[in-house]
Amino acid sequence: MFSIKFKTTEELPEPSPRLIDQVIGQEEAVKIVLSAVKNKRNVILLGEPGVGKSMIVKAVGEILSDFGEFTPYYVIAKPNLKNMERPIVEVIDGEYKEDLKEIPKLNFKTPSSTTLILIMVAAILLSQYLLKGIPQEYLLAAVTITSLIVLIFGFVIILTSIMGASKASMGNNINPMDLKPVLLYECKKRPLVRASAYNVTRLLGDIKHCPLGGRPPLGTPPHKRIILGAIHEAHRGILYVDEIKTMPLEVQDYILTALQDKQLPISGRNPNSSGATVETNPIPCDFILIMSGNMDDVYNLRAPLLDRIDYKIVLKNKMDNTLENRDKLLQFIVQEIKNNNLNPMTYDGCCEVVRIAQYLAGSKDKLTLRLRLLANIIKMANDVAMGKDIEEILGNFDEEGNYKPETQKDKNNKVYITAEHIRKVFDTGIYSMEKQVALNYIKNFKRYKHIVPNDEPKVGVVYGLAVLGAGGIGDVTKIIVQILDSKNPGTHLLNISGDIAKHSITLASALSKKLVAEKKLPLPKKDIDLNNKEIYIQFSQSYSKIDGDSATAAVCLAIISALLDIPLKQDFAITGSLDLSGNVLAIGGVNEKIEAAKRYGFKRVIIPEANMVDVIETEGIEIIPVKTLDEIIPLVFDLDNIKIEQN
Ligand code: ADP
Repeated sequence: MFSIKFKTTEELPEPSPRLIDQVIGQEEAVKIVLSAVKNKRNVILLGEPGVGKSMIVKAVGEILSDFGEFTPYYVIAKPNLKNMERPIVEVIDGEYKEDLKEIPKLNFKTPSSTTLILIMVAAILLSQYLLKGIPQEYLLAAVTITSLIVLIFGFVIILTSIMGASKASMGNNINPMDLKPVLLYECKKRPLVRASAYNVTRLLGDIKHCPLGGRPPLGTPPHKRIILGAIHEAHRGILYVDEIKTMPLEVQDYILTALQDKQLPISGRNPNSSGATVETNPIPCDFILIMSGNMDDVYNLRAPLLDRIDYKIVLKNKMDNTLENRDKLLQFIVQEIKNNNLNPMTYDGCCEVVRIAQYLAGSKDKLTLRLRLLANIIKMANDVAMGKDIEEILGNFDEEGNYKPETQKDKNNKVYITAEHIRKVFDTGIYSMEKQVALNYIKNFKRYKHIVPNDEPKVGVVYGLAVLGAGGIGDVTKIIVQILDSKNPGTHLLNISGDIAKHSITLASALSKKLVAEKKLPLPKKDIDLNNKEIYIQFSQSYSKIDGDSATAAVCLAIISALLDIPLKQDFAITGSLDLSGNVLAIGGVNEKIEAAKRYGFKRVIIPEANMVDVIETEGIEIIPVKTLDEIIPLVFDLDNIKIEQN
């Protein structure tokens, strides 16, 4: 299974501390992202959830210092004394120094000391002149009056000059202490800034409202209300925007402008806020843009923005099931155990994880790379191993109904995650909503379903196989075909189950009618006038949608059986598409379908030969791979009991 022999994961080497070495299965994507960052290109990562998009970006973020020199900088906001609604934001190279905390030199016209002395002298001379001729005894009073005149004069001059200056420059009564510049952001190493696409304020910045009695206090000057955006914080680094599906169009335009101009002003985003009247100068924001989302999300992006993204990388959702890749999966298990502080896993447990990775990939030949899902299963299996609470819920009772703990402990009472714990999480579907819905449906509905496996051969009755929704659970579908004579000319095909399996039905009826008319089937021949027949097709008790054409072979057999009146054996279920030449073509979900046939107790399951590489479990049911319809016919028709006249 793996290139190393071990009993438990404790014996395996420690995972690399570097996140970049921990990413598995996405080697090409990692290389492209690293090269893109080195060359300052913009990137979009697309792929299914949990394949490692954020992990790759985070990993690149860890090693950003490897990408050459970086000049640290800091961002300050200053008041604009000419227009307070237009605060000034500056990006300054170097480290932030405390002396910035000084109050800026304001343009107050405070009188100089020479002017004051001159004023005083003038005041004294004036009072001397006024006091001339005053008798000696009034001299003390005269001196007091003189000093008072001097004081009042000086005071009035100072006051009017201060008030005049501040009024001219501010237009309101701001406390001069509020005019200090403020430090908005300091960046000492190359930044990786992450922001969700829907969070406009976080992405582009904003100006806080200045409410009465609220925060910030009333009268806080605009430069102290600036919130820097992620695009500005990512200056000289990387801006990582995830959830691109949710990015409003107007934000896309701003980001486009920022990418083009490498600068963008901040203004108040809420039109009802006092911040809306404020706008800064354009603030430098020279960043590499990395975005991520699911494949379909890309259609939400406007073409000009998408054009600006140089690398568009689609991450893989599966890798080949090779020894090398199984080893990588083992490395992933060890990482998850270490990173999440889980109990060690036994060798069998690791093999079970590989088996589930095959199931989730839909093939024995592949391993899933939807590793978040796999990581969640491992974490839950650890919980099952840890405590009996969850084990009890998931059911672990012996035949007499007594709780039977499965937790495997070694001599030192150490807990291990075993194959049983993992299987339990997988089989009960607690890691997936869809699987639980499908399981509940099957559990509640099976007893009402009229399926009699291995019954007597029947004309026009066959068991097909389907996968229920996105739950990854297969189910058996009974298909019934009946032929009636019609008074109207032409063959009438009636699907009495509505929209179900439209593709399969159209294809199968065309093919079966052709084959029956041509009489080339390896079956007893019969003259049938197809010109006045009504073919009724029912997918009995099937209520969920059946897409695709994987029921074609089943429907075709049922129509041929009904037209020729030859019974079909009932010990098999069949899945497979057909082309018009009668070749059996591959289908999806083969493992889930085989599971379903097994669950209902069928002895045989017929599948396309092309799908044999995908089959994981071969035990418990006879699996018959077929390439053509001619191969199927002798396997399924009960030729011993035919009552029709031969031509
Ligand atoms: P995405 O962004 O594609 O939805 P994440 O990067 O958030 O997925 O992956 C979630 C978690 O799943 C990671 O933290 C890691 O534990 C695991 N994981 C996903 N992809 C990988 C990978 N390629 N290699 C290793 N671990 C992975």
